[in-house]
Amino acid sequence: MRLAELGEFGLIDRIKANVAASPSVLLGIGDDAAALLPTPGHVTLITSDMLLEGVHFDLSFGDPQSLGRKSLSVNVSDLAAMGAYPRHFLLGIALPKDLSVEFMDGFMSGILEQAERFGATLVGGDTCASKGGLAISITALGEQRPELVVKRSGAKAGDLICVSGSVGDAAAGLQELLRGVREGFLVSRQLDPTPRVAAGVALAEAGLASAMIDVSDGVLADLGHICESSGVGARLDLAMLPLSGEYRAACGADPYALALSGGEDYELLFCVGSKRRGEVEELFARLCLNLSVIGEITEKQGVELVTAEGGRYEPRQRGFDHFGKAEGEAD
Ligand code: ADP
Ligand code: MG
Repeated sequence: MRLAELGEFGLIDRIKANVAASPSVLLGIGDDAAALLPTPGHVTLITSDMLLEGVHFDLSFGDPQSLGRKSLSVNVSDLAAMGAYPRHFLLGIALPKDLSVEFMDGFMSGILEQAERFGATLVGGDTCASKGGLAISITALGEQRPELVVKRSGAKAGDLICVSGSVGDAAAGLQELLRGVREGFLVSRQLDPTPRVAAGVALAEAGLASAMIDVSDGVLADLGHICESSGVGARLDLAMLPLSGEYRAACGADPYALALSGGEDYELLFCVGSKRRGEVEELFARLCLNLSVIGEITEKQGVELVTAEGGRYEPRQRGFDHFGKAEGEAD
């Protein structure tokens, strides 16, 4: 069946039927606006990300479920980077009329599966027909105690620069997809990233991170955002970058290029006072998540890149900019 047969309100009813009730939702899908109960003593953090067919995704690359999961993951990742836990979200979708209902069912099952995993409830949205491609816009709301929220602006000279998981995989996965590969670790890191919600919240609640961001534009660009907001510089030890075996096998002669500027890994990049290194290591061991200390915040502005041999590294590209000349895919 095509969406044209189901109709807008048929589709909204179909979406609503699969959304579980939540005690924090006084009014969800079905009225003119949703009514939410805030957790006492917490602030609401709100973030929005768009995914456009042809810019952020290609329908031939993956299945509708993983597109659904990724649509929510990229939003939830921004909440995690503030140390907030996800609570609610809104879903705006523009859909070509000839899209199948089966596609939408798969897409929604991916979104709602990810929502359940991270404790977020769908409370509304907007549905339109698209004369171009598929467009997805999610607005996610999270909560945290105000004093625990982690900003980009708190990094201080001497802080250690840490990153979770591994970097460069998603960009290497995109290169594989463009070559026709449709499976494997790198491809799944591109199509179905894992937002580091537990780590972001735990870092915030332990008061460990002085500044934090999620790696959507690439380590170099995102570290640049922290440095700019904090009024500091950084020195990165490239030998310490966490590169997966699969990435090393695929990256070609320069192992640093994609790891620094590739983006879309949705790992957490954060700064920690050097005396608290042991606590962070313990926290990550408890979460069974890889932790790498990849450099140090400096008073001197600018990001200095030091190779394993102690030389300086000049990146070909700094990261993704939608309106910039940089090659590569969307953030
Ligand atoms: P209005 O015309 O008042 O904006 P709509 O007809 O657009 O209302 O939406 C009806 C209800 O369905 C609203 O509660 C809205 O939040 C919800 N809704 C619409 N589209 C979606 C969607 N894609 N996902 C979840 N809820 C949706
Ligand atoms: Mg509307």
